[in-house]
Amino acid sequence: MLEAFPDDDAKWAAFLARDLRADRLFYAGVITTGIFCRPICPARPKRDNVRFFDTREACLASGFRACKRCKP
Ligand SMILES: [Zn+2]
Repeated sequence: MLEAFPDDDAKWAAFLARDLRADRLFYAGVITTGIFCRPICPARPKRDNVRFFDTREACLASGFRACKRCKP
């Protein structure tokens, strides 16, 4: 668990704000596109479609591909 972003609500808030402090602390996988992003990505998926992961490896293991815009 991440101290600064302990739950999905905190992660989502950081993602919406493109919080630089969150960069590379977690990643957002978008289930509708199969792509995962850094919290600072300009992509704005719907919250219901987002799953959070702590590592790139976890994203890849779940079948997500890296976003071409934010290059996680
Ligand atoms: Zn992205």
